[in-house]
Amino acid sequence: MSHRRLHVCLKSILLFVIATSLSAAFAQRSGSIVIFAPHPDDEVIGCAGIMMQSLARGERVKVVAITSGDGFPGAAAGVAHKAVDQVGPDDFFALSRFRQLQSRTALGILGGKAEDLIVLGYPDGDLGNLYESTDDKVIRQQFTKKNETYALIQKDYHTSVHDKPAVYRRSSVLGDLVELLTTLQPTEIYVTDETDGHIDHRAAFWFVRDAARKVGYKGAFYTYLVHGLPAWPFPTGVTPNQPFESRKVKGEVVPRGLPWPPPRRVPLTHEQAERKLRSIQAHNIPVVGMPEHQSEMESFVKSEEVFWTPLGSLQ
Ligand SMILES: [Zn+2]
Repeated sequence: MSHRRLHVCLKSILLFVIATSLSAAFAQRSGSIVIFAPHPDDEVIGCAGIMMQSLARGERVKVVAITSGDGFPGAAAGVAHKAVDQVGPDDFFALSRFRQLQSRTALGILGGKAEDLIVLGYPDGDLGNLYESTDDKVIRQQFTKKNETYALIQKDYHTSVHDKPAVYRRSSVLGDLVELLTTLQPTEIYVTDETDGHIDHRAAFWFVRDAARKVGYKGAFYTYLVHGLPAWPFPTGVTPNQPFESRKVKGEVVPRGLPWPPPRRVPLTHEQAERKLRSIQAHNIPVVGMPEHQSEMESFVKSEEVFWTPLGSLQ
């Protein structure tokens, strides 16, 4: 072998080594995160910090809104400027459109893109009924009268993939989730915790857990708490310099049913906490008449985000 040929050969080996170590380094950093939100807003309340930190690292982040956000009469009345007893299906559709747009706006504030939001379009308020419906019966939502998936700012997930909506039944929710996990192949899943005070949030946990088991998911499985019992979060108010705290209410440790300290605490910089506040406010400003709801949501702005691992390892 001539010196020149040896030189070329060594050069290609060197280039190969650099290329493989670079791709290995990239592979280690390229996580794929899926945040499951029962309603459009839960994702930023629980996971805005995780979302912006992952996006900043160049990881893939998908937000999956399981319901259309169409089952909250007080908010429908607020958006429509009507009395609560005057709202009809169109007002719930308007609310749904509104909340989905807010999720898209909030995602943009955190550095995400419109296509990172996936709306399954199941009925707000009925996730528990769907999960418990072991005979797989079709459910009609009381406010919209709909019995199949829909989204208003984009196609709902099932329509976007199958050209037709999915009927509101237990097997449809599970089927969509299994399909999504198979397609997205996440390395981290986030969903609301089973101890949450809202039935949709508990049912979201059960559905996502079942889907993860069905596909043999081996990644990390985290839960976040929104409606913690009997009162959560603490301290109340926007406190970007303070961590979440446990406390005792009438002798009971809060949050109820969860270990404290939580197994995972993710620090947020002051700038990240500020952006989290803006992403939460993107959800709230137009919904009038519920200041206590807004201040409760803003109380999730802390110096950290906290997560639990109730399933341990799914393996
Ligand atoms: Zn919710």
